Amino acid sequence: AKASGKGQYRWFEPAMHKRAVQLLQLETGLRQALDRREFVVYYQPIVDLQTRNIIGLEALVRWQQPGQSLIYPDDFIPFAEETGLIVEIGDQVLQQACADLAQWQQQGLVDQHFTISVNLSSRQLLQPNLLGRIGSILQENGLSYKQLRLELTESSIIDNRAFVDGVLRTLRERHIQLSIDDFGTGYSSLSYLHTLPVSCLKIDRSFVSSITANPDSLGIVPLILNIAQTMNMQVIAEGIESEMHLQQLRQLNCRYGQGYLFHYPVPAEAVPVLLVQAGNR
Ligand code: C2E
Ligand code: CA
Ligand code: CA
Ligand code: CA
Repeated sequence: AKASGKGQYRWFEPAMHKRAVQLLQLETGLRQALDRREFVVYYQPIVDLQTRNIIGLEALVRWQQPGQSLIYPDDFIPFAEETGLIVEIGDQVLQQACADLAQWQQQGLVDQHFTISVNLSSRQLLQPNLLGRIGSILQENGLSYKQLRLELTESSIIDNRAFVDGVLRTLRERHIQLSIDDFGTGYSSLSYLHTLPVSCLKIDRSFVSSITANPDSLGIVPLILNIAQTMNMQVIAEGIESEMHLQQLRQLNCRYGQGYLFHYPVPAEAVPVLLVQAGNR
């Protein structure tokens, strides 16, 4: 700790110093991870709740250092957002996800209606060359815009409202599908959401997990399904973990979902087997 006057030490400094060192190490680690291509993409199937057919995959990043255990996004994404490194990480994820999808398509495992969903942070949304990057990555991999879904949170849209509005519209004009992630956890007004060119709402896992066997206490889920229907949007329920969740969601006519009940996120190598087993091909 640094002296602050006559032999006095500010009590909080050692802790702050330790935190600063940790953050610096993490930033260095993330930069190296980018250079060494240590970010790997896992995929979680999105299924049709009636047929259990896999209709798409969500790309979820993990950090794999050689010989270490996997690091999950909650432990580095917030910091990557703070430092801006998320832009490059997100770019690698998008590249990898598109390259993988192109391969599965070439192998005849999926058709052109199959989509890959990629999470986009607000930092990425603010990149002036975002549209160009997406365009060239899709082109390099021989994919069309329709095959990509971008998942955005309410806050990443609302925080940059004026700018993002134009970006979203352009994406939509190119037929990229936009989903609102963690729907219901933000504070956006419905009248604003209504104006956005979004085609899908993802019901946050917290609402799905509070579903009970009692049809009178389904919480906010029926409300979200009503909103989506009124706005003519698709719905994907996240975090489906039990048969009871599935049953209730089916009762409510929720069409799509994802969760541990169906599939955990898996590395790319494991995807072809899943697709074959699910009867996609
Ligand atoms: P998310 O986009 O809401 O992703 C869903 C999270 O729920 C994933 O956690 C997934 O593994 C987990 N999950 C799926 N099914 C279930 C279930 O049935 N039960 C439970 N308890 N969890 C389930 P994960 O992979 O750890 O990702 C956490 C968050 O990190 C994501 O939340 C997303 O916000 C962020 N993230 C992941 N990959 C990326 C990325 O490439 N870019 C950006 N910007 N953010 C990412
Ligand atoms: Ca997501
Ligand atoms: Ca989510
Ligand atoms: Ca989330």
